[in-house]
Amino acid sequence: MYTLLKQIAKVGIVSEAPPEADESLRVVRQRLDDAVLKQFGRSLAIRHVDPGSCNGCELEIHMAQAAHYNLEGLGIKFVASPRHADMLLVTGPVSRHMAVALRRTYDAMPDPKLVVAIGDCGSCGGGIFGQSYASCGAVSSVIPVDVAVPGCPPTPLAILQGILTAIQR
Ligand code: SF4
Repeated sequence: MYTLLKQIAKVGIVSEAPPEADESLRVVRQRLDDAVLKQFGRSLAIRHVDPGSCNGCELEIHMAQAAHYNLEGLGIKFVASPRHADMLLVTGPVSRHMAVALRRTYDAMPDPKLVVAIGDCGSCGGGIFGQSYASCGAVSSVIPVDVAVPGCPPTPLAILQGILTAIQR
């Protein structure tokens, strides 16, 4: 016990250094804040559909809602119904079983609607899953896509940038 206390007194409290301020995140957040306010009156509703992802992209979207990136703090929220959504966020390749569901979700959204494909799977030819008897490949092979965000998976900052690009189109 004495040795332990001596060690604590000698070393002190060890903790990680605070992270450096992320200037690019600050800039993207400010632009997103302005764009959401201007285009949507401070409330952008997103419907997310995963028609075949490995879940890596979902984890990054989840991180974008955490305190550091704070997507909800910008007035951007996820909704359960496509009828309430301004934007459709699609992750992963489109499995053939989910192609009809994705098309119906897109059709159910009111105009004007935006579609952002997240990740290499959704933005190009299906990523590591490619096209096959089970996979239609990229999201654009099933519904029109406004913005594709590459990366496997893309970072939360890249996802924020993709949403911003779609809003500013
Ligand atoms: S892009 Fe990568 S992380 Fe995203 S669904 Fe495809 S394999 Fe998974």
